[in-house]
Amino acid sequence: MSRENIEVLIKDLGEPRYRAGQLYSWIFQKFARSFDDMSNLPKSLRQRLIDEGYTIGRAQVGRMAESIDGTRKLSVRLDDGAAVETVLIPMGDRQFTQCLSSQVGCALDCKFCYTGKMGLSRNLSPGEIVDQVILAKRALPDDCRISHLVYMGMGEPLHNFDGVIQSIHQICHPDGLGYSHKRVTVSTSGLIPAIKKLGDTVPVNLAISLNASNDAVRDQIMPINKTYNLDKLMTALKAYPLPPRRKMTMEYVLLGGVNDEIEHAMELTRLLRGLRVRINLIPWNPFDGPEYKRPEEAKVRAFQRLLLDKGYTVTVRVTKGLDIDAACGQLGERPDDDFEPDKEALNE
Ligand code: SAH
Ligand code: SF4
Repeated sequence: MSRENIEVLIKDLGEPRYRAGQLYSWIFQKFARSFDDMSNLPKSLRQRLIDEGYTIGRAQVGRMAESIDGTRKLSVRLDDGAAVETVLIPMGDRQFTQCLSSQVGCALDCKFCYTGKMGLSRNLSPGEIVDQVILAKRALPDDCRISHLVYMGMGEPLHNFDGVIQSIHQICHPDGLGYSHKRVTVSTSGLIPAIKKLGDTVPVNLAISLNASNDAVRDQIMPINKTYNLDKLMTALKAYPLPPRRKMTMEYVLLGGVNDEIEHAMELTRLLRGLRVRINLIPWNPFDGPEYKRPEEAKVRAFQRLLLDKGYTVTVRVTKGLDIDAACGQLGERPDDDFEPDKEALNE
């Protein structure tokens, strides 16, 4: 429920307005798991909420895996038994970037992505998205901070547009989790009509999974390109209401022998001309199945150098969490993923 929904609920129950703020803060700031925890609400109100069938925090943390590089992956078990994963990526001193899932699986079938192989089961509700943040905060030691949130986990966020927008409202509400929109990034494979709508609705950062410098390659690795090709994508990005001094991120998964040649880098510079972008190169993270290979280090550096020389800001994403299948494009259920609630991760 949004802050506004809770206000309506409290009003309908004939309670004073300030109770809405108390209830909201118990859920989003103190992370209460039950109405009984809400010690400053009258017992009669708590009981009515229970009697009327309201519940809190349905998702549970399953296994928490920790990589040798400090990356943590939480399996989150949802009410209906479905599972998604969320990843905490260490960003220096006790700070993490959290990668959020927006769907169970994904319908878009990008050939290099493990989640894409699963197909789509369903959208996550706004509560199930926000719950990933709350569960992660509870699982981390008190002196650790989640400084940035990126919608780069399982699913295509703009395919679950309403759920994602509502979750962003919750995450950024000053009485709730209180994140600045500047610390939130939504990544999309390029659902053009929804990109404009996103920009008109919330001032979050935008990342685009570009992954190719021409339509021939993009058609082959991302079926969405057959609907929204690069020409249409670039036109939409030029019209995007990017706030002053901000850049959008272009993610480019480097697939050895497919899109990692110097000619591709050249082509990319021409494609992106006129856009305010930073480029993030992601050497492909392997999983069983597709016949791709991770490019050689020298190839990655040469690709980056050419783009740098042309004046672009270019980073190479450091691969993290590879040993626990938590790196980009590796999220999804595996056959041996048994679910066992992790009491320690729950701090219970
Ligand atoms: N569906 C959205 C959000 C997921 S983001 C999107 O595609 O943008 C996941 C990012 O990881 C995307 O940029 C994708 O291109 C990249 N990716 C997917 N599979 C990968 C893999 N096996 N190795 C490296 N990056 C991968
Ligand atoms: Fe879906 Fe993104 Fe994976 Fe493509 S890269 S299949 S859009 S999650």
